[in-house]
Amino acid sequence: MKFKQDYFEQLVGYYSQVNPQGLTNPHWLAWSDDAAKLVGLNEPTPQLLQQLSGNAPVPGASYYAQVYSGHQFGGYTPRLGDGRAILLGEAYGPKGYWDVALKGAGLTPYSRQGDGRAVMRSAVREFLVSEALHHLGVPTTRALAVIGSDIPVWRESQETAAITVRLARSHIRFGHFEYFSHSPEGGKDKLQQLVDFTISQHYPDLCCDASGYGQWFNRVVADTAKMIAHWQAVGFAHGVMNTDNMSIMGDSFDFGPFAFLDTFSEDFICNHSDPEGRYAFGQQPGVGLWNLQRLAQALVPLIDSDTLIAALNTYQQHLVAHYLKNMRAKLGLSTDSIGQQQDDFDLALIGELTMMLEQSQLDYTQSLRRFSYIDPQATRSDWADDFVDRSRFDSWWQQYRQRLGDIADVSVWQAQRSAVNPKYILRNYLAQEAIVAVEEGDLQPLHQLQQLLTQPYDEHPDLAHYAERPPKWGQGLIMSCSS
Ligand code: AMP
Ligand code: MG
Repeated sequence: MKFKQDYFEQLVGYYSQVNPQGLTNPHWLAWSDDAAKLVGLNEPTPQLLQQLSGNAPVPGASYYAQVYSGHQFGGYTPRLGDGRAILLGEAYGPKGYWDVALKGAGLTPYSRQGDGRAVMRSAVREFLVSEALHHLGVPTTRALAVIGSDIPVWRESQETAAITVRLARSHIRFGHFEYFSHSPEGGKDKLQQLVDFTISQHYPDLCCDASGYGQWFNRVVADTAKMIAHWQAVGFAHGVMNTDNMSIMGDSFDFGPFAFLDTFSEDFICNHSDPEGRYAFGQQPGVGLWNLQRLAQALVPLIDSDTLIAALNTYQQHLVAHYLKNMRAKLGLSTDSIGQQQDDFDLALIGELTMMLEQSQLDYTQSLRRFSYIDPQATRSDWADDFVDRSRFDSWWQQYRQRLGDIADVSVWQAQRSAVNPKYILRNYLAQEAIVAVEEGDLQPLHQLQQLLTQPYDEHPDLAHYAERPPKWGQGLIMSCSS
């Protein structure tokens, strides 16, 4: 990897230098060829294994942990920082630079009560979901590899330590701005330096002046809304939408107890530590705005309030526009003559479908995949048999069919639907099965699942069992925050 060290060199005082604590007996558990290409790597060599497990220096790398704060479950924690992730710098690749981070590489000044480690289970889950979201077209950080070890770590029971090698366009979080706005080590100059750095690195078309700052915040609002619209359309629950887990780039970031929906439910909670459902699936759009409000508050010294408020006021519009774009494609609703009235109608049509899915406890992904093989021109659809309230479905179907209008070629229409409604998602029970196999020394199920998730829209008839709803033991798996 060829590194530049812009954060390290230009933002002295925004991190601590650290030494990684290497893994003993490191071994590759997973590797993404696709992500490797992003940073100019070819294959998982023994030398790279020693380097990325923290046992040998990576040429050209610096080792540092960033400082930030964040709102966690609504309350402000004034100082967090990378407690177990160590940044190496920005690695050059054909599509630009990527921050490389070793998540789980040992103690840092920000580890607080933690041990600086990540357990294999959570490292594998982060790896799988990063790659799964990417191949579903959802903006996300990436994962290059997972490295296992024989270091024992204690969570609810004894587990082993692992490292996820994470790639991100940036590791700067909403919490970075909160820290440098609110903490005694911050202040207007420090905050401004961070904003200038972010803009010059990632928004090269914007200027670092009052008008540029406003435009930049508008972009952050739009990108965050877009990411969350994707989550809602694909049925993804992040689980810990604290402001320290919100990437300034609008990339899905820092995965813990996430889950894809099986049965559709607005109230679905995937995080064991969130009994009140602050981060329930249906709450995510509102939380996205709440988090942007916290970011706006941090930016008050730099950007005038009217500009910040005006930008926040565009959030809903961006969210709805992106959600509608995704959902219209999934349902095959044309975008020929859309306007406010059509938007309202379509939102109601989509909302009625998801409410019926929820009422009938139907699987979200399987239900949408139906659009790749239903007859959209049938006067009555036998899909009605799946719903508890058939007449409700029948009247929905009439409205839907009318909205579709004439379809020139049904098989083309169906093929378009299967290109946007995945057959395969990272269901929690599938991740769990792969993790159990890894614990037993069998990497094949993990690699099979990883491979499948790179082509989620293809049929793969021999692997159709991966598209099934969870077995009884895997229903409503709620993940612990301890990772
Ligand atoms: P998370 O919930 O993973 O986003 O983590 C919240 C904060 O706790 C971040 O500052 C992490 O770096 C830190 N943290 C989480 N787990 C550990 C751990 N095992 N050791 C040290 N710090 C941790
Ligand atoms: Mg985090």
